[in-house]
Amino acid sequence: MRDMSAGPRVLLKRLRELMAEPLEPQERLDRIVRQIASNMVAEVCSVYVLRSDGVLELYATEGLNKEAVHTSQLKMGQGLVGTIAASAQPLNLSDAQAHPAFRYLPETGEEIYHSFLGVPILRAGRTLGVLVVQNKASRNYREDEVEALETTAMVIAEMIATGDLKKITAPGLELDLTRAVTIAANGYNEGIGLGHVVLHEPRIVVTNLLNEDSDKEILRLAEALGSLRISIDDMLQRRDVAQEGEHREVLETYRMFAHDQGWVRRMEEAIHNGLTAEAAVEKVQSDTKARMMRLTDPYLRERMHDFDDLANRLLRQLTGYSGRATDENFPLDAIILARAMGAAELLDYPRENLRGLVLEEGAVTSHVVIVARAMGIPVVGQATGLVALAENGDPIIIDGDDGQVHVRPMADLQKAYEEKVKLRARRQEQFKALRSVEPVTKDGKAISLNMNAGLLVDLPQLAESGAQGIGLFRTELQFMIASTMPKLEEQEAFYRAVIRQAAGLPVTFRTLDIGGDKVVSYLRSQEEENPALGWRAIRLSLDRPGLLRTQMRALLRASAGAELRMMLPMITEVSEIRAVRELFQKEVQHLSKFGHSLPRKLQFGAMLEVPSLMWQLDELMAEVDFVSVGSNDLFQFAMAADRGNARVSDRFDILGKPFLRILRDIARAGDKNRTPVTLCGEMAGKPLSAMALIGVGFRSVSMAATSIGPVKAMLLGLDAGQLAEELNAALDDVRSDEPIRNLLLRFAETNNIPV
Ligand code: PEP
Ligand code: MG
Repeated sequence: MRDMSAGPRVLLKRLRELMAEPLEPQERLDRIVRQIASNMVAEVCSVYVLRSDGVLELYATEGLNKEAVHTSQLKMGQGLVGTIAASAQPLNLSDAQAHPAFRYLPETGEEIYHSFLGVPILRAGRTLGVLVVQNKASRNYREDEVEALETTAMVIAEMIATGDLKKITAPGLELDLTRAVTIAANGYNEGIGLGHVVLHEPRIVVTNLLNEDSDKEILRLAEALGSLRISIDDMLQRRDVAQEGEHREVLETYRMFAHDQGWVRRMEEAIHNGLTAEAAVEKVQSDTKARMMRLTDPYLRERMHDFDDLANRLLRQLTGYSGRATDENFPLDAIILARAMGAAELLDYPRENLRGLVLEEGAVTSHVVIVARAMGIPVVGQATGLVALAENGDPIIIDGDDGQVHVRPMADLQKAYEEKVKLRARRQEQFKALRSVEPVTKDGKAISLNMNAGLLVDLPQLAESGAQGIGLFRTELQFMIASTMPKLEEQEAFYRAVIRQAAGLPVTFRTLDIGGDKVVSYLRSQEEENPALGWRAIRLSLDRPGLLRTQMRALLRASAGAELRMMLPMITEVSEIRAVRELFQKEVQHLSKFGHSLPRKLQFGAMLEVPSLMWQLDELMAEVDFVSVGSNDLFQFAMAADRGNARVSDRFDILGKPFLRILRDIARAGDKNRTPVTLCGEMAGKPLSAMALIGVGFRSVSMAATSIGPVKAMLLGLDAGQLAEELNAALDDVRSDEPIRNLLLRFAETNNIPV
């Protein structure tokens, strides 16, 4: 390829110098346009900057009337400049005035110029403005000139991004880059988070734009691409790929992109125009993204994410920089923004600094959301496109109640939210006042309210919330945080600490529930087509008895002299419980033989999460001391709707007839068999669904600690008998198709029950 870098190279070098000089912003911008005009042998060079009100304002010009600066304005989509901004595509015209979008601005005096070349000023795919050159003579700008102007626009993008232009922006106006953005998404965990953005996968900001030697940069790019391709092939070959959530299809797409000659050629061209390899990757990434962001086809938009991920990987290869916030610059009020995230990754962040989590994907029962809820931080999901609109450090507000996200909020909104936070704090105080009030319904039914936990940091909430115990302790979280398998002693010490901090209140330990979407990196299993239906939870434990026995030994030792409540996840057949009991007995014998003291009492329970147990209820209840419904899994299996896939997880109503009938059957079987039945899925923590649970006969539930207050406030005003009557009648009515949810809402409203 012919090296066309000489012209642009000189220009870029000069622009870099101008950027470094101690100049006033207007002066700097004026000199920049002068440089570009002279270098490109153009009579005109102008910069339009996009304001937050969607107006493109002329910020500097060489060649047009100077009086037009800060006066001439075009709306997004209006005129040639507005068209470029709206489409994020260059326009190269030999006769500008013949173009249908041309709009004559008399104050500029541009009527004498015929040819026109304009390119968008882009940053991370966002349009920040438009850069234009014009000539009197009618001419077509060459491809390399278009390319050179695009490269130059990167320098101006940097100038805009650093906030340099703020000083020359009229008071009361703002640039688009700093525009306040609000996205309506879904609230996954209530609460309001005020803080600053931390991008989970931060964009790498390339500061070294200008190359010294394009051949060397071409080589660097080729090497980085080579390593990238090898790493993708490696990932494709690794059997654990599926477990990491990086599906084969995505990796195949990555591979396709990584070998895409068009992509490589465009990056090489940018290098020939004077950019470093990393700046070339960023430029092409930004151009492509800007174009793809305008696509409406969801499949292609999804591919944009893949392409973006891939370009980021390439940038990391080239810069050796992860872009992660380091401990020193990690904000004290961090709100994490991610496209998707594993539960363990969230736990990597300093918990005391976390004020919220926003996901572009995810569903309300996905594990990262459960972990976030256990941590008590507000969560918003399905915030499509948010990551591209935010920068690390941007002020942000997330509202987990109504699902709104506000990036760079206006001062009055910020104030309103601060007020809201104060109000919530007051409401929390009111719930706190309920802490020692007995959870008894208006008609005298005692309801046991317990909390879910999984980390030691959850424990203080036991006393604060007034929960009667821990109804679900997710032991797998300790395994998910660790980088290697926790040893017997570590497990024992951990359980001991939990029991000690529970200060005599009962703790129900669930044995390891890994597999599915709960990934434990050091426990690799084979790739599975359907991990949720695969080798997980008790299945894995029974196939790896050493693992289960170690855990049971740790639990037995930690509960010496006390009560041990243990429950088994994902039971499908009652025989599985018997198999675990056999292993458990061996552990008991082993400990007695070596003189260890044993728990004073053992309560053996099973989780009801697999629908097959519905037809073994009597056998199940004969076998165990208690049953705990895992409604998250039971609902996903009963409705055949993946709990982690937002497209289907909200499709069916958890308060619909089928599921409430299932729950009622379980509660009735519990009564009949005199087996305590509880429920520890997410629905227990929502006042309306907790009310429904009481209506179908549940007298015990377990939920996130923060839900105890609201659920208690609900039940204190509830006549459980009256609700049961109305609810049962509706559930038995085979002719009515009125949603049960409506009945429940109406019941709450007429009886003044806070839900
Ligand atoms: C459930 O499935 O409802 C449950 C409580 O278990 P987990 O969410 O940990 O799968
Ligand atoms: Mg479960």
